[in-house]
Amino acid sequence: MSLLELDSVTLKFGGLTAVNDLSMSVEEGQVFALVGPNGAGKSTVFNLISRFYTPVTGSIRFDGKDVLKMAPHEVPNLGIARTFQNIELFHQATVLQNLLVGRHRHRKTNMIAQMLHLPSVRAEEREHRHAVEEVIDFLDLQPYRNSRIAGLPYGVRKVVELGRALASKPRLLLLDEPASGLSVEETQNMRWWIDDIRRHMGITVLMVEHDMGLVGKVCDRVLALADGAKLAEGTPAEVQSHPKVIEAYLGT
Ligand code: ADP
Ligand code: MG
Repeated sequence: MSLLELDSVTLKFGGLTAVNDLSMSVEEGQVFALVGPNGAGKSTVFNLISRFYTPVTGSIRFDGKDVLKMAPHEVPNLGIARTFQNIELFHQATVLQNLLVGRHRHRKTNMIAQMLHLPSVRAEEREHRHAVEEVIDFLDLQPYRNSRIAGLPYGVRKVVELGRALASKPRLLLLDEPASGLSVEETQNMRWWIDDIRRHMGITVLMVEHDMGLVGKVCDRVLALADGAKLAEGTPAEVQSHPKVIEAYLGT
């Protein structure tokens, strides 16, 4: 059984078919890339998996469970975390506070217990802190731990967003253009992190990425989309050399 399975998924925005009869399977342990020109429907696929949108037809299964039966707020509890193409963080909060938000799905104690500072709450807080400190160390975010997001450079915010998703200890990580807007050096770091996330944390990664250099280095499998439909699927080398993909990218 695949970890994530989309079967004949179609989504329309009025007259526009943003995702067209798309089927895809992501296996546990894979780094899987969705590529395609702007407007191909890549972010929409993420929004479907996150339950922000409901398809007109088709099914989405995660670990055998019917995702379409879930509400959007239940999706993180399945073990699916994501980043956004346009970074979505709490700008007035610090890096540490934003990463603690990523722990939300693991919170067990209720609000009243938290207000009363019961011992069970303190123990749980220690556990969350510990998980977040691990992420801070992994992503070299120590210098920014107590900085507000609003004052941080774009490249650092991008890393914080990855951190917030990682702090939730997901089984599947959805990364929407993790390298867009990053410098060569920052992209290199992102590559190593994605490698480590798969290898050492055992997290499956589904990413949307324009940088084919990065895709070729970190991904096992690639699916190319154009106008919401699958053009080609295979290894990075197979997809990059596929005539239909070359045509779509060159716009001829
Ligand atoms: P990609 O991420 O591949 O660049 P998107 O998934 O963002 O593309 O968009 C796919 C298509 O759907 C585009 O034509 C886009 O304009 C359209 N689209 C995306 N979101 C919406 C929305 N909320 N309402 C209407 N159209 C949308
Ligand atoms: Mg997009």
